[in-house]
Amino acid sequence: MSGPRYRGRFAPSPSGPLHAGSMLAALGSWLLARQAGGEWLVRIEDIDPPREVPGAALAQLDTLAAFGLHPDGPVEYQSRRAPLYQAALERLLAGGWAFECHCSRSELAAAGGIHRRCVAGRRRPDPAIRLRVPDGCSIAFDDAIHGHVAQRVDLEVGDFVLRRSDGLWAYQLAVVVDDADQGITDVVRGADLLDSTPRQVLLQRALGLPTPRHAHLPLLLGADGRKLSKSEAALPVRVDEPLVTLQRLWSCLGQAPLADATTPSATAFLDRALAAFRLDRVPLQARSVCAAAHNANAITRA
Ligand code: GLU
Repeated sequence: MSGPRYRGRFAPSPSGPLHAGSMLAALGSWLLARQAGGEWLVRIEDIDPPREVPGAALAQLDTLAAFGLHPDGPVEYQSRRAPLYQAALERLLAGGWAFECHCSRSELAAAGGIHRRCVAGRRRPDPAIRLRVPDGCSIAFDDAIHGHVAQRVDLEVGDFVLRRSDGLWAYQLAVVVDDADQGITDVVRGADLLDSTPRQVLLQRALGLPTPRHAHLPLLLGADGRKLSKSEAALPVRVDEPLVTLQRLWSCLGQAPLADATTPSATAFLDRALAAFRLDRVPLQARSVCAAAHNANAITRA
């Protein structure tokens, strides 16, 4: 029996314009969804107003359109989905999975930084809610690019926050609730989120939700092979010449150059890319060519 129809998504946070790393996630998730004959959705993860840049969500959607990446359904906004997160939180509290935590940042830091039990000296009016991670909790999953990944969530992460003390929803809870609610079968995103996935798998189990398949796309490195600095990593992609950026991203995905490099438009490029894309060529990390995309940005934006 075949499973549900492939449904992928791209889920940017509107904290600035799309950069090479986020465009790589957009392109990779789009290619895999379309190759599988499935759907590709876009969800704006705007649950952190202090980190949100006004206008960024619209600019991100315009950029995707300029690159020829059009979602197969209405764009969802996490800021409009709080009742779903609240319902999930109440289930976790009722099931004994979640608890109120009164620990302050400094108390937790003094206790080693990883929450295993409350060390609060006093009750706060605004406690956070955390997920209780059982002792010995090891979560493993098979990633289509990284292979078998395992994490001792109790030791490496500890009891993690579901709702912050300032009342904001944590990414881990919102992403799990939304992926399930939107019927996402395949999560394709950047490798910077690889170590969040075990937390999400644990939450899916606690909530009785299915775990999607995962593919974590290459981390982008500078030409020197080192991690990009925060400011380099945040450089926006060029929207004026989508074709140039698409070709660079294509190369970061480890793909052989498309035979005819003179494709006239982003859409024509994407058609050819769809026919040629091979997941088994995608590397764990990518460098230099995408760094060139960054440098080009720096030059054109200067
Ligand atoms: N909103 C997250 C980000 O922009 C991505 C979430 C995800 O793909 O799961 O980093």
